[in-house]
Amino acid sequence: TYVVTDNCIMCKYTDCVEVCPVDCFYEGENTLVIHPDECIDCGVCEPECPADAIRPDTEPAMETWVEFNRKYSELW
Ligand code: SF4
Repeated sequence: TYVVTDNCIMCKYTDCVEVCPVDCFYEGENTLVIHPDECIDCGVCEPECPADAIRPDTEPAMETWVEFNRKYSELW
């Protein structure tokens, strides 16, 4: 899965939302998140983010961000 990380906070360009083929972005007041179970790992959103906030969960130490994205995508 891909996840939204801290560069998105107070940013929210939403270019990523427009390209996601499965609409798995959820929008809160201060950030966007990706639902980790709905993301199909296509990667098209990652280069669209001007803030470089979208990262694959295969990078080191991403567990906290996966949980953050899961938690808020289920709340919003
Ligand atoms: Fe959507 Fe693809 Fe990005 Fe996952 S990797 S959030 S499916 S655009």
